[in-house]
Amino acid sequence: MTRVYAAERTWQRELRYYSFGHYLRERFPFKVHKIALHAGFTCPNRDGHRGSGGCTFCANETFSPYARGTATLPIKEQVRSSKEFLRSRYGAEKFIVYFQAFSNTYADIETLRSRYSEAMDDEDVVGLSIGTRPDCVSDEALELIGSYTGTHHVWIEYGLQSIHDETLRRINRCHTYQEFEDAVYRTRAVGGINVCAHVILGLPGEDRSDMMATASKLSGLGIDGIKLHHLYVARNTALEKEFLLGKVKTTGMEEYVSLVSDFLERLSPDITVQRLVGDTHGDDLVSPVWPVSKAEVVRAITAELCRRDSCQGAQIVP
Ligand code: SF4
Repeated sequence: MTRVYAAERTWQRELRYYSFGHYLRERFPFKVHKIALHAGFTCPNRDGHRGSGGCTFCANETFSPYARGTATLPIKEQVRSSKEFLRSRYGAEKFIVYFQAFSNTYADIETLRSRYSEAMDDEDVVGLSIGTRPDCVSDEALELIGSYTGTHHVWIEYGLQSIHDETLRRINRCHTYQEFEDAVYRTRAVGGINVCAHVILGLPGEDRSDMMATASKLSGLGIDGIKLHHLYVARNTALEKEFLLGKVKTTGMEEYVSLVSDFLERLSPDITVQRLVGDTHGDDLVSPVWPVSKAEVVRAITAELCRRDSCQGAQIVP
């Protein structure tokens, strides 16, 4: 039976899930936006250090604004130009610098220190968010990242995608679920660092119950945030080859909306949802091609939760 929370928090009335916008408004008296950066790191699953060939879906170039081409703008310049854009477009006042492209703890400690510092050396930067792999974060790196928590709002975003090792093998992640849990516990031990997990719904070989098991497991792990996206096939990836051979299928929009709604119902209402749907440039996208914008998919998820008279966490049994 569905248990619906009393409509006591703004997000429960407005969106039915704990959006990152609500989370930020609860913490900051000004408008905060994220600035996505490409800091010139690579990834141990792409350069052969951990695995080879990368995750089958990996198309980092397609979702990072600065990862296209070979020339990388200096970090300071990326921050400056993004601030200008976000100010004029959205009225943003303060910023969280987000090291997005590839694995942003994959370097020696002095390189990490210098790149993080360069991005944070701006009076309008109030936060730091670092995207990386769970098998790629040393205790030394965690200590460094933890040292910023006194002055900045700090996140680490671990790419997980699924709690099922069989799935992780299938998509060539080259790490296990246990390594993710270990990274979460080591991060927690430092104190003050918020943890976000990235999950993909619709991965090959997974059915609805596998995905719901991921929701329940992460919900119980005490993470602080989650980013969801649908499996999409981008050009020039190993996944594209599998897709063209008919070995991989993608989901329709209605099915995805239903999956996300089920997932959110199993997720603790204390976990902020930083993303609900993936995004890629039109020219790079092979499948699925949905006839609606990303914003419309997000609205459809809220509409589905309203239709169910439900919200994030509604299916968690106390
Ligand atoms: S861990 Fe990230 S950057 Fe590395 S291969 Fe996988 S998706 Fe690409």
